[in-house]
Amino acid sequence: MVGDKIAFLDLVTQHQEIREELVAAFNGVLETASFVGGPAVDRFETAFALFCEARHCVGVGSGTDALRFALIAAGVRPGDAVVTVPHTFIATTEAISQAGGVPEFVDIDERTYNMDPEKLREYLEADCVVDDESGKLVTLRERRPVTAIVPVHLYGQMADMDPILDLAKRFGLLVVEDACQAHGAEYFSKSEGRWKRAGSMGYAAAFSFYPGKNLGACGEAGAIVTNNASIARVCGMLRDHGQAQKYYHDMEGYNGRLDALQAEFLRIKLGHVNEWNAKRRRHAKRYEELFAEGSGLITVPYEAPYSRSVYHLYVIRTHDRETLRSRLAADGIGTGIHYPIPLHLQKAYRNREFSEGNYPVTERVASEILSLPMFPSLSAEQQDRVVEKVLQCVARPTAGIARHAVASLRT
Ligand SMILES: *Cc1c(COP(=O)(O)O)cnc(C)c1O
Repeated sequence: MVGDKIAFLDLVTQHQEIREELVAAFNGVLETASFVGGPAVDRFETAFALFCEARHCVGVGSGTDALRFALIAAGVRPGDAVVTVPHTFIATTEAISQAGGVPEFVDIDERTYNMDPEKLREYLEADCVVDDESGKLVTLRERRPVTAIVPVHLYGQMADMDPILDLAKRFGLLVVEDACQAHGAEYFSKSEGRWKRAGSMGYAAAFSFYPGKNLGACGEAGAIVTNNASIARVCGMLRDHGQAQKYYHDMEGYNGRLDALQAEFLRIKLGHVNEWNAKRRRHAKRYEELFAEGSGLITVPYEAPYSRSVYHLYVIRTHDRETLRSRLAADGIGTGIHYPIPLHLQKAYRNREFSEGNYPVTERVASEILSLPMFPSLSAEQQDRVVEKVLQCVARPTAGIARHAVASLRT
């Protein structure tokens, strides 16, 4: 029986719940007609910096703007190598290239799907060398200065930041967090002995407020968060044509400002994010409990002990992903794939000398992942149906045997 459709992401319900507040904010902005920048943007920036436990926030036009400006402000110069992962959205590497840098990849951890600090260490030790003249780290083959590392906090879980920050320190590199999927995520820093929020650990961090993110605008928006006053000042100029004062341009910048309207919507929605994230975490826990029935048939997300994920996405792994995806679609259940083609195998990078087999973990993961419905208003009934259909599909040929195998695995 096909029940009601279950959307992969339900954004309509979320906005209906706070409709009055949003409409009042819209009316307020219409009255002042201060549409770009101004006090509404300042108010949101103050609130979001506080949320991230960071000193400064600079609102910009998108997450891609935020990453690009953060990298430029951090000192990435044309031709510099910037190290990231191939398992991410292309905006990460676009921003590196647009800042003038050249993206270099290290593979991910098979369980967390985030940057593997061991692979990063291997890359920095084996594929890079300290240049005799400058005393700086350069790539072995092309002699490019290596300036920054961009760990991506994918699916709402922070990358393993302690070892990444240690390596960055040891090699004199700057860390810019791609926190576009991790609003409110936390990491237990052993070196500091406390939980730290996404955006508060690197030299700077980039957030996206694309509507589908955990904190989404009603349009496009993003922000840079940093504890460094000079990064914040430079990002503030980059977003506004390089001016610190109207028509006094210290450098060329961009048109990358945040709208007042989006800032107001974001400020209102920010007040709900902790509660929405808590709901996502509850849904993830419930998915995990329900899927325990079929363990061994699919792989559920792994939350590392150092991490409190905000489950931007709920991503499972299965060998026959395409069959599962189309069966779920036939039952009216929406899913997504984040992301089907690793960046090093994208046409956009065919001019680089990448080939299949370069990043085997990423390649394996990309062929097996499936994102299930995950949003704050997901109901228990909807979850039950998703899990039932998934287990039915993966267990269909040998359901009895699989159950038996699971039972014996558990003993
Ligand atoms: C969404 C996203 C971006 C880009 O953000 P936009 O606001 O769409 O420009 C960058 N990196 C990651 C990991 C993202 O998920």
